[in-house]
Amino acid sequence: MRRVYMDHSATTPVDPEVAQLVMTYYTEKYGNPSSVHSFGQEAKEGLEKAREQVAALIGAQPSEITFTSGGTEADNMAIFGTAEAQKKKGKHIITSAVEHHAVLDSCGYLAKNGYDLTVIPVDEEGFVNPQDIEKAIRPDTILISIMHANNEVGTIQPIAEIGKIAKEKGVIFHVDAVQSLSKVPIDVKTMNIDLLTISSHKIYGPKGVGALYIRKGVRLLPRIHGGGQEKKRRSGTENLPGIVGFGKACELAGERMNAEIERLKVLRDKLLDGIVERIDYVKVNGPRGDKRLANNVNVSILYVEGESLLLSLDMMGIAASSGSACTSGSLDPSHVLLAMGLKHEVAHGSLRFSLGKQNTEEDIDYVLEQLPKIVERLRMMSPLYDKLLHDTAKAQ
Ligand SMILES: *Cc1c(COP(=O)(O)O)cnc(C)c1O
Repeated sequence: MRRVYMDHSATTPVDPEVAQLVMTYYTEKYGNPSSVHSFGQEAKEGLEKAREQVAALIGAQPSEITFTSGGTEADNMAIFGTAEAQKKKGKHIITSAVEHHAVLDSCGYLAKNGYDLTVIPVDEEGFVNPQDIEKAIRPDTILISIMHANNEVGTIQPIAEIGKIAKEKGVIFHVDAVQSLSKVPIDVKTMNIDLLTISSHKIYGPKGVGALYIRKGVRLLPRIHGGGQEKKRRSGTENLPGIVGFGKACELAGERMNAEIERLKVLRDKLLDGIVERIDYVKVNGPRGDKRLANNVNVSILYVEGESLLLSLDMMGIAASSGSACTSGSLDPSHVLLAMGLKHEVAHGSLRFSLGKQNTEEDIDYVLEQLPKIVERLRMMSPLYDKLLHDTAKAQ
């Protein structure tokens, strides 16, 4: 059977070139970067080269990159590190209703422990309005945390506009760019970003490694204390194989970015248009065109359960997701879709296909061949769909 992986927003396969390099740092260049001998120096060189490669992809200085165990830790570091460092200035934080749980739950924790939180709503396509953010800023606002591109519906936020506002008002601006890295050009300087979260395993690098860009001069208190690695910002012996792999993945992503964005957009639109054409009662979630991530397709298929769709697709070798990978397995509908105004039952029938490097036009054709058959079969078992057919027949 054909196997089609379309869950790249959950994770990606490690690029073979990256995997090969990573291996050498397990078996040959295994020194501790803090050691003074040649083994240590060799490791240190690998570490610093990776820092340059990561920095280059986002327009930062290498000294502004702190490696972490992934996107989740970088989000936590940005939010708690700022909250701690700025608490004398104030305790008000602004975020949006569609953030990743790593941001939302960190802010939620602070809200329960003496901080004030404003959660900015989004419109029906998932956009925050920069003016809403501007209006929410108070003298005691210490942090604005808004994601670049949404992991569920692919909405790309007006980050440069928000950055301009944050800069004018002198508020620290954190951006979770895990999904946009390598799919939307990022320049932390022109976008006026102070803190930027990125993760390796979403861009064909190894799992368990990520980074926080910390603009020079931004104060952040450490959350992990110990040996003083990463300029005392994040202690602990570095995950060198992972970091070196992340660096290489960034380099490759930078080289391929423009061509790959264009290729993915064509596949994305073919899949989106194909689903809308072939299946009745479908709602596209998120915007169309250039303000949508090049690799994201998200639709609500009415009168079917997202979970049943996923299982049926999986039986045909197709890997997709419903809502975000982190929330599937629970029956709570996605907080992102609810924030966009979807009713519970519509949010429940939502399906995300996130495309990647190996996906081809044939893969899209295969999904477009299988999905309508699956939907038809599942709808036959749905009492709501039965009632709909009945009511439309009566109306005619
Ligand atoms: C995957 C993801 C994260 C978490 O990154 P990890 O490296 O898996 O911890 C954070 N934010 C967004 C938007 C993501 O998609």
